[in-house]
Amino acid sequence: MAPPRPTLYRDAALADMASPSLRKSVSVLVADRRITWLRPTSDEPPVPPNVRIIDAGGSTIIPGMVDAHSHLTLPGGSHWIDRGADPPEELLEVAEHNGDLLGRAGVRWARDVGSPLAVDPRDGQRRALALRVRERWRSDLDRPRVRVAGTWIGHSGVLTGGLAIEADDGPALLKAASTQLEDGADFLKLYLDGPKKEEAPWSTEDVRGVVELAHGRGAKVTAHSGFLVGARVGIDAGVDSLEHGFELDSDAVAQMARQGTFLVSTLAIFRSWASFAQTTTLPRFVSDEGKERIARRRERAIESVQLAYRAGVRIATGTDFGGGSLRANHLAWEVESLVETGLKPWEALASATMRGGELLGEPEAGRIVEGGPADFFLVHGDPLDDPTALWRVWRVAWLSESRRPASGPGT
Ligand SMILES: [Zn+2]
Repeated sequence: MAPPRPTLYRDAALADMASPSLRKSVSVLVADRRITWLRPTSDEPPVPPNVRIIDAGGSTIIPGMVDAHSHLTLPGGSHWIDRGADPPEELLEVAEHNGDLLGRAGVRWARDVGSPLAVDPRDGQRRALALRVRERWRSDLDRPRVRVAGTWIGHSGVLTGGLAIEADDGPALLKAASTQLEDGADFLKLYLDGPKKEEAPWSTEDVRGVVELAHGRGAKVTAHSGFLVGARVGIDAGVDSLEHGFELDSDAVAQMARQGTFLVSTLAIFRSWASFAQTTTLPRFVSDEGKERIARRRERAIESVQLAYRAGVRIATGTDFGGGSLRANHLAWEVESLVETGLKPWEALASATMRGGELLGEPEAGRIVEGGPADFFLVHGDPLDDPTALWRVWRVAWLSESRRPASGPGT
């Protein structure tokens, strides 16, 4: 197969988060999937003779986004929990569909924070299914770049269905962590909500043991945190990030800021649940009591992100698709939610791009630089000012023609 021709994107606006306003009239030359140069359109260097020129007038170039909280093997929707019990072969197909949705929505990187355990037919061992997805996608340049946490590690009585690894004390926790890393997990995911809402599942010392083990092997540790007691244990134990952080207080966020602990926000799930009051018949979404409960949790979650933001905590963001009810192409919804909490639109977009890259320890993720990968996409509108522009994807530079979204100007 002939290599793709170099491509020149001419006269676009650029949103690179280096400044809070767009750079206009920019041209970008792409060859071999990398950015050869990025210059003012009025000052383009000579282009190769076989170049393909794309008139990008009216569109805006954005770095490929980072969905920092995703579950690649699960579909989401209002029955998201039930779907975790589907047969592994079906979940692998779901992952392919999700890979497609992510790419077309401008998401270049997905950080998988938990997938069900399933028997690997090659050796009969049970391991996290997303590890197989990572392997499949490694050689497919169109697919999202992924980092995978393995499966959830939780206390017994919390995560049902036998999908996760259970550990009820320090030694069991260390063993579970060690098994995950040996299976090939890129980082670890602890579930810091316990069977009782007012108690953390493990002690600070137990969790610190896991953090030391993982850091010693060059891996990070993240923790699901729905309640304050668990958040406190995770922060004191030195985890690298908290997922959700639905119940933080001012002491917690101050310590996170001091230590450099990331918060990965997932606020759009409340918007999604609110929409189910209209689209489903499930009592927990449609009943007055259910709606009130969701509204209360949402308010508290928004307050937590506001506290973190004001304290200077680094905020990355994700959809929680699959492990929650969103779908894989909904990251724009989360950016909108962050703006609603008070982040400036360009800061919220930075959370969905370069902050996610920092969290992953991938300096090229979520950035556009000369010489770097051509991991950008084009939308209509100014995403530094209006997060809804992220829904209006026109082209995705890293996708092969057959996988690109249908071209259209959007509205
Ligand atoms: Zn999740």
